[in-house]
Amino acid sequence: MRRRDFLKFMGVAAAGLGLQSVTKAAASRTKPNILLIFADDLGYGELSAQGCLDIPTPNIDSIAKNGMRFTQGYVTHPVCSPSRAGLMTGRYQHRFGFEHNPGPEAYAEPDFGIEPKEITIAERLKTFGYKTGLVGKWHLGFRPECQPQACGFDEFFGFLSGANNYHADKRKNRRPILNNGEEIQEQEYLTDAFGREAVKFIEKHKKHPFFLYLSFNAVHAPLEATDEDMARFKEIEDRKRRIYAGMTEAMDRATGKVLDTLRRLKLEEKTLVFFISDNGGPTSQTTSSNKPLRGYKGQMYEGGVRVPFLIQWRGKLPAGKVYDYPVSTLDVHATAIAAAEQKILSDWKLDGVNLLPFLKGKNKKRPHETLYWRVGAKFAIRHGDWKLLLERDEPEPQLYNLAADISETKNLAEEKREKTKQLQDLFDHWSSQMEPARWIRRVSRTQADGKTGRTRGQITEGEKNIEPRLKPSGQAGDVE
Ligand code: CA
Repeated sequence: MRRRDFLKFMGVAAAGLGLQSVTKAAASRTKPNILLIFADDLGYGELSAQGCLDIPTPNIDSIAKNGMRFTQGYVTHPVCSPSRAGLMTGRYQHRFGFEHNPGPEAYAEPDFGIEPKEITIAERLKTFGYKTGLVGKWHLGFRPECQPQACGFDEFFGFLSGANNYHADKRKNRRPILNNGEEIQEQEYLTDAFGREAVKFIEKHKKHPFFLYLSFNAVHAPLEATDEDMARFKEIEDRKRRIYAGMTEAMDRATGKVLDTLRRLKLEEKTLVFFISDNGGPTSQTTSSNKPLRGYKGQMYEGGVRVPFLIQWRGKLPAGKVYDYPVSTLDVHATAIAAAEQKILSDWKLDGVNLLPFLKGKNKKRPHETLYWRVGAKFAIRHGDWKLLLERDEPEPQLYNLAADISETKNLAEEKREKTKQLQDLFDHWSSQMEPARWIRRVSRTQADGKTGRTRGQITEGEKNIEPRLKPSGQAGDVE
């Protein structure tokens, strides 16, 4: 069902049930707001709550203090764009061919973008009467039918591509900042601007249930911080780390302002808050650490896909608790729908689950027995505490027991051949149900001129291992 048809259908269904209208019923103030804060390239070890020692993040940590922290929170992909497609739809993005980053906007393949037939969390919540807003980075399509306002967002302040300059004076590579479709000249440091606009959105819709997706491009490259924020970290000798610390400080401050606004407007008990990163930290590029995990952004090791993952809903969910079973960004969609007191229908074919019963202790099982990742020929599968993964240029998959070996140091593939085969079979079965990639990452016109002879849905042998080629930290780039 196309987006517009779905919305129409919901209206008819509501009428058929004798409801006044879904919108009106859902607009009652009893429904909670959903605030989804998504950081960019923030590594597993980069919050104080996650063990970071040199950059304090008291505001973000307060979400863990007032809510719950997940030690095994996963994303569906180790780079930005596909990870966001899984988050928005609650489905493995491979189901609709969204397997790779697009590369810079100028070279992105025409097909790139979220499939119009896929229903985003914003579209669903909008149907249920929510005011919906995106502040920040989109990275899910440049075509009009793939832009935020065609994907369920009433309001959009931010940019469409994968990265951006933070300072207005570095105009050279600044991607356009859009305010509901109109390009504006934003002068404030971008992270502060996004915090400001998020506060504005909450104030504007305080009397009505809202869904706000606050999608920082912090702490993605380019490394740019304000002098003031960097000055707080004089004791950090490495300049790169000092800039990165300033960027994190700005994101923590902006998050604090948003959380303060909820408090001031007495919306804390009426707001379900998520704070998650879109993929692991690219350590060599930005210094972002994934400790104690192995690997980094782009990789199938835990450092690529296990991220800071926090949730808060005062009065509804426990405070100060740590949850240890694996959860996924796939679960955000279903959890938000359940929080909005709506039924999750089986024909939506969500891969994520409603986490609320698990977090309230009503369901003591694992939310997921098995999770999957695929990036071209690379893959990973987690089944229970076992993980099988194939990294780039490796001939054979590696097997780890994450319960005993969180840092993936001891490859047990040879020793546990049966387990290796079981996980390989499970992965193969899942993978066979997915669509082929609809595009690969393009970085130049030569790649895009059809010389590969590739047609839609086919990836040539040489293109199978697509990895993000991380740019030096000083360049803007709109890549990942
Ligand atoms: Ca990212």
